[in-house]
Amino acid sequence: MWQIVVQVTSDTGQVGYGWGGGGKASVPIVNGHFSELIVGMEVNSSDDIATIWDHLYFESIPYGRKGVALMALSGVDLALWDLLGKAENKTVAHLISPDVKSSIRCYGTGADPLMHAEMGLRGTKTPHRWTGEQSELDSLIAWAETARTALGDDGQLMIDTYMSWDLETTVAMAGHLADYQIHWFEDVLNPDELEGQAKLRNLVGDVNIAGGEHEFSHHGFNEIARVGAMDIWQPDITWCGGITAGLRILDIAANFDIPVVPHRGAEVWGLHLVAATACEDLAEYLTGGRNTETDEVWFGAPEPVDGQIDISESPGFGIAPNESLL
Ligand SMILES: [Mg+2]
Repeated sequence: MWQIVVQVTSDTGQVGYGWGGGGKASVPIVNGHFSELIVGMEVNSSDDIATIWDHLYFESIPYGRKGVALMALSGVDLALWDLLGKAENKTVAHLISPDVKSSIRCYGTGADPLMHAEMGLRGTKTPHRWTGEQSELDSLIAWAETARTALGDDGQLMIDTYMSWDLETTVAMAGHLADYQIHWFEDVLNPDELEGQAKLRNLVGDVNIAGGEHEFSHHGFNEIARVGAMDIWQPDITWCGGITAGLRILDIAANFDIPVVPHRGAEVWGLHLVAATACEDLAEYLTGGRNTETDEVWFGAPEPVDGQIDISESPGFGIAPNESLL
């Protein structure tokens, strides 16, 4: 996913780690611009982190506001939260709120609902790419049949179309899948088509229109709110501007009564926000398939057990990078 590791060190000897987006394009923004802006700034509270966030956002406006600049800013923001947590000997969740859920319900993202059921997950989301072939509709209905049977009546079924449907296709799919009580359709249109998504909310029955992983900062989510584009928001905390942006997005969501289920919420960066705020008690866990092997970039990250993921009590985000991969 083109992620970057950001490291911030303090003159008190603390080291904070963050996880940002944007890959190689993002690195010069952190090392060539943001680093010179934050050296010498104080980090004694989350308000200080917000001050730094605003400063970096403002200084990067000519080339930023969204996309790679915010993905870079996310990594810096998360590294500062990790640093502050370590300095205060608190988890990031406890820096956000004294009222922290210790265990979060997970849903699985991957094409194998039987594997998700075996893992004890109560929700399953399939990646779906539509090119218009009848066979793709047949396999989607077969997936829904398998998933509903495996997870039972109270399991949650979700479909991520990765912007491969259009308005008419989405309405038609709601009809084809009406028997399976799909919880949400995700990323049905491209993120600039807010009006189309707003329209769809009334055209797909009980299915929720979800999205937001390609939106950035509270400014972007203000626009989603203004248009009324989505039933469920899914900011990616390593892309949208970190915990600081996540908290501001949650303030807007609360005003509009919109549930927030962060993209990849079972990764520590989203998980601490989910645990400490009014986010839904639901974290996305990317499982891949049965034989998927992934590099372990972070040591200490919790894994779900029986469909629940617990946050660690270690300070900051409770993780350390696998140096051999850096
Ligand atoms: Mg998605």
